Amino acid sequence: YPTLGVILDQTVQKYPHREALVDVAKNKRWTYAEWNQEVNQLANALTHAGVKKGDVVSTLLFNRSELVTTLFACARIGAIFNPINYRLKSREIAYIVQDAKPRVFIFERAVEEVIRPVFFQFPMTLFWTVDSTRLNWAQSYHDLLSQAPPFSPLVDVSEDDIYAIMYTSGTTGKPKGVMHRHRDMIEQSYILTHALRLSPEDRGLSAAPLYHCAELHCMFIPRVHVGATNILLHHFDPILVLETIQDEQVTVTFGAPTMWNMMLNEDLSSYRLSSLRLGLYGAAPMPPVLLRSCKEKLGIELVQAYGMTEMGPAVTILMDHEQLTKIGSAGKACLNHEVRVVTPGGRPSDILKPGEIGEIIVKGPCLMAGYYNKQIATEKVIRDGWYYTGDLGYVDEEGYLYVADRADDMIISGGENIYPREVEEVLYEHPGVLDVAVVGRRDIQWGQQVIAYVVRKDPSLTSEDLDQFCRKSNKLSNFKRPREYVFVDQLPRNASGKVQKFVLRSN
Ligand code: AMP
Ligand code: MG
Repeated sequence: YPTLGVILDQTVQKYPHREALVDVAKNKRWTYAEWNQEVNQLANALTHAGVKKGDVVSTLLFNRSELVTTLFACARIGAIFNPINYRLKSREIAYIVQDAKPRVFIFERAVEEVIRPVFFQFPMTLFWTVDSTRLNWAQSYHDLLSQAPPFSPLVDVSEDDIYAIMYTSGTTGKPKGVMHRHRDMIEQSYILTHALRLSPEDRGLSAAPLYHCAELHCMFIPRVHVGATNILLHHFDPILVLETIQDEQVTVTFGAPTMWNMMLNEDLSSYRLSSLRLGLYGAAPMPPVLLRSCKEKLGIELVQAYGMTEMGPAVTILMDHEQLTKIGSAGKACLNHEVRVVTPGGRPSDILKPGEIGEIIVKGPCLMAGYYNKQIATEKVIRDGWYYTGDLGYVDEEGYLYVADRADDMIISGGENIYPREVEEVLYEHPGVLDVAVVGRRDIQWGQQVIAYVVRKDPSLTSEDLDQFCRKSNKLSNFKRPREYVFVDQLPRNASGKVQKFVLRSN
C-alpha cells in the first residue's frame, strides 16, 4: 500500500492546478500544488521543532485548512496525528495530552480559554496557535510555517506505521486512543470512493467535524485520494451549509442524522441546491421519517454507513437503491468486511438466526492496531481478529443488518428488553417533535422505567398528546410506552451527533 503522504503526492502530480481546499471562514483557496507546498513547509517546521518519526502532534481545531495540513505533514514525516474533539473541557483535554504526550499541540483562538488553565502541566509539549494573536505560552504556527523550506522531507514511512491516534467520542467511560495505520486508511478510502463514486469532479463539503473519523476517513481522505475539491466549514450551521452548497456547487456531503434534520427544517426553497448529488449519513441511527423527508425534499442519492472509530470506521453500507426498501437497516458489509450477530460476548461461531438480536461483531482490513497504552482494553474488544462492537442488532433473511441500540442503552423494565431506538422512532413521527431521546430511569418496582426527553417543534405539545399518539400508533407494546415525558430545549449531543444518554440518565 502507499502511505497517506504518497497518495497526496500522486494527486498533486495528476492534478496540480485543481482546487484542493476552500476554507470558507477564511475565504481562501488552494490548488493541490499550493496546498502540497504548505504541507511540506509544515512538515519541515515540525521536524525543526524536534518532531521525529513516531512522535505525536495533537490538534484542537475546528474545520479549517490547518487541521488537514497537519494531518498530511505528519504523514510525510511519520509523526502521529492526534485530532482532538474541540468540544471537550479542560480536564478531558488534559487527560488526552497526558496519555498521548504530544510534542506539538496546535490550537485556535476559539479554544484558547480551554487550554490556558492546563498548558503548564505539559512542559514537554510545544503549543502553537494558528491565529495571529500573540501569546507568551504559544508560538505562531504561520510564522514557523513561512520560515520553513518547501521541499518534501525525506523520511521513510511505511504502510504499517501508525498514522493517527483518535480518541473515541466516549459516550461511555474514559476516552481511549484508537491507533490506525496508513494502510487502514487506504483500504477505507477504496471502500468509500467506490460506494460514493467519487471523482476529481466532485466538490465535497466538510460540515461535520473533521477531528472525527466519519468526516475525516469516509469523506476527506477519499476525496484527496481521487483529487476532488474539499470545502471546509468552520463548524456546522444549517443555513451556512445550505448557502455553501449553493455558492460552492457542492456535490457530496456527510451529516449525522441530527444535521440533516436541522437542514430540512430550514426553508429549502430559498436555495439552489441542484449541484448536490449525494448525501452520506451515519454515526447514529436515522429515524425513518427523517430519511423519507431527506429523499423527498432534497431529491438526492443517500448512502448510509454504519461503523465505529475502531473499524476505520465504515463496516456496513446501505446503498441508495436500498434506502426505501430496507428502511431502518444499516445495509451489508463493506468490501472485504464480514459482519455477524452472535450471542452477546459469545464466540465468533455463536452465530444467531436471522431476526434474533445479539451483539454485532465485525472483521475487516481497517481494524485498528489497538488502543494506545491499553493492552487489556484492546484484548477485551478484539478476539480472533473480530471486533466486538457492543452494539446490539440482528440480520434479516436477506442478510441486511439492523442496529438495535448500544448494549449500554438497552432498557430492561419488568424483565422486558426495550430498545430505545424503537420508541424514539415512533415519537419522531409526531409532527410536533423535533428531537427525542429515550432512556431508562431506575425504578424500584420495575427495575427501569422508560423516560422520553423531547425537544418540541410545537410548544403547545403536551405529555398527554404524546402518550395518546403512542397508543394510537399501535406500534409500541404497553411496556415500551414512555412513563414520563421531559421537555427540554436541546439534547446533550457530542460533536459527532450522538446523544449522550449517560448525561440524561444521571439527571
Ligand atoms: P464512534 O465511537 O464515535 O466511532 O461511534 C460508534 C458508534 O456509533 C457505533 O458503535 C454505533 O453505536 C453508532 N453508529 C454509528 N453509525 C451508525 C449507524 N449508521 N446507525 C446506528 N448507529 C450507528
Ligand atoms: Mg465507540
